[in-house]
Amino acid sequence: LPALVLVSTPIGNLQDLSARAKQALAAADAILCEDTRTSAVLLRAHGIGGKCIALHEHNEAAILPKLIESMQSGQRFALISDAGTPLVSDPGYRLVRAAIEAGLSVSGVPGPNAAILALTLSGQPPQPFLFTGFVPPKSGARQGAFAKLRGAELAGLSATHVFYEAPHRLAAFLEDALAAFGPRQAAVCRELTKHFEEVRRGTLAELTAHYMAEQARGEIVVVIGPPGDETTNAESLDEALMTALKSMSV
Ligand code: SAM
Repeated sequence: LPALVLVSTPIGNLQDLSARAKQALAAADAILCEDTRTSAVLLRAHGIGGKCIALHEHNEAAILPKLIESMQSGQRFALISDAGTPLVSDPGYRLVRAAIEAGLSVSGVPGPNAAILALTLSGQPPQPFLFTGFVPPKSGARQGAFAKLRGAELAGLSATHVFYEAPHRLAAFLEDALAAFGPRQAAVCRELTKHFEEVRRGTLAELTAHYMAEQARGEIVVVIGPPGDETTNAESLDEALMTALKSMSV
């Protein structure tokens, strides 16, 4: 058994826990959880007992030495996060780094991940893709992050972009994305694997208009297609947004 096993857990549908994930969680001496209460629901649903230790961004650095020491003395840990694949916009990177540096064996049980599922459902080219995760919440910093990505495109990068975003920021996110990337094809993927799963595809201008008019709910991945031959001057963007807004109000 590896000293540390990274186990992917469901992103909304409890049935998406694999058989091997269950085995790994049941076999671990302790399960490192981002939030022990959230994970308790999953573990209980699958009849997995066992000890949970909280490992989140606020204590990861502090408890690292002790965890490494325990693994060196033979303890076997499983790492999970609240949803999906640990480390992906979730805690665990420092632990994995430290385990590798300590010469400990690290393995993984792959499974759900919101970014990959959204990418595959978006209708945009699956590779190359660039996963940014969350951009900064404030508009100025967010525009800065988009400007960097757009700069990389102007320097030759041609990739599908994948972002995580909170529902109450989606409209502002899309507005800034439209300004940076132009009215290219995109998809807003909401509540994947859940009852109200929805994938809304369209141009960035159409999606911006839609979510300016209607507050988004639930968990969201935004996929933005690679640059095409769209024009990106300010006037054509305003025009695209106005056209999309008008088409909404009919
Ligand atoms: N580790 C997770 C993974 O593998 O996808 C991601 C964790 S990150 C803290 C949480 C964000 O992932 C949410 O804010 C949302 O952007 C995205 N997400 C998670 N579950 C989702 C779902 N069921 N549908 C759409 N997006 C989801």
